[in-house]
Amino acid sequence: MGKTMAYFRGENVPIEAAKISIMSHGFNYGTGCFEGIRAYWNEEHGELYILHLAEHFRRMAKNSKILFMELPTDIEGLSRIAVDLSRATGFQQDIYLRPTLYKEDEIIGVRLHGLKDAFHIYAAPMGTYVDIQKGLRLGTSSWRRVDDTTVPARAKIIGAYINSALCKTEAVMNGFDEGLFLNQDGHVCEGSAENLFMVRDGVLVTPGVADNILEGITRSSIIEIAERELGLKTVARTIDRTEVYIADELFICGTGAQIAWVSSVDHRDIGNGKLGPITEKIRDIYYRAVHGELPRYHHWLTPVYGTQVKTDGTATFAQVVKQAAAS
Ligand code: PMP
Repeated sequence: MGKTMAYFRGENVPIEAAKISIMSHGFNYGTGCFEGIRAYWNEEHGELYILHLAEHFRRMAKNSKILFMELPTDIEGLSRIAVDLSRATGFQQDIYLRPTLYKEDEIIGVRLHGLKDAFHIYAAPMGTYVDIQKGLRLGTSSWRRVDDTTVPARAKIIGAYINSALCKTEAVMNGFDEGLFLNQDGHVCEGSAENLFMVRDGVLVTPGVADNILEGITRSSIIEIAERELGLKTVARTIDRTEVYIADELFICGTGAQIAWVSSVDHRDIGNGKLGPITEKIRDIYYRAVHGELPRYHHWLTPVYGTQVKTDGTATFAQVVKQAAAS
């Protein structure tokens, strides 16, 4: 039930009606930035919960600054657009929202300044992106992650994803499930589209934001869960390649990938090659939280059908219940 739709040129339209020109700057030069947002369907609540909606638009606003671009409205307005679009689709299943801000001029000449920006979002059904049940086999990529001195990884730039595509395809062609990027310094960076965490001697470690990672929103959620539920403070620091080989546990995370545990890297088993206890705990809490099953994480969620979006783009579960009761 439901249909794939887009917010395009200021209105919600069927996806077939959302077309851009082959001459557009963003298509030809990759000049733009995007977001990937998940919404989870909770059958029992009869509700679709958008995860970290305002947070994604906040990141987009920061990225647009790097690219001399301007979003059409503020975080509240963007959140409202996303909720209205999601509601218009009528989906009662997990979906994915893809907002894109790009240069739409139909001209030849590569630059960022003096060009018009266009913004759209599409909403489509979404299943798993990588296998989250079985352990993933990672292979270190021969491609290095883009560097802040060339193409900033934190900016989620359309054109930068050729770097991720090279990494992913090489990994799959070599028989792995996912690629592991080293940055230009040769330190562990992230997966092709996921951040990375390792557990060593009971300490949760992840590369820092100055290691050329995308500043992941799932990464922040995991840091929050680890501290709150397990009393584990995450250490953000530089990680060597061989440190992951000898880690007790390893997992990758992202909006698409969610939390996927890693069984081996470069043919070396991680720990005993099985799902580790810290990863399992964090993963299980994360899944319950994103599906709206844990009230203490309802501040992460924006309900699509049951309530109006709050001004900061979030709505609490208490509001959902109150609104539902009043209607
Ligand atoms: N790194 C890269 C390169 C990504 O594309 C993604 C997916 N957006 C992530 C990390 C994870 O980021 P997030 O948790 O915000 O989805």
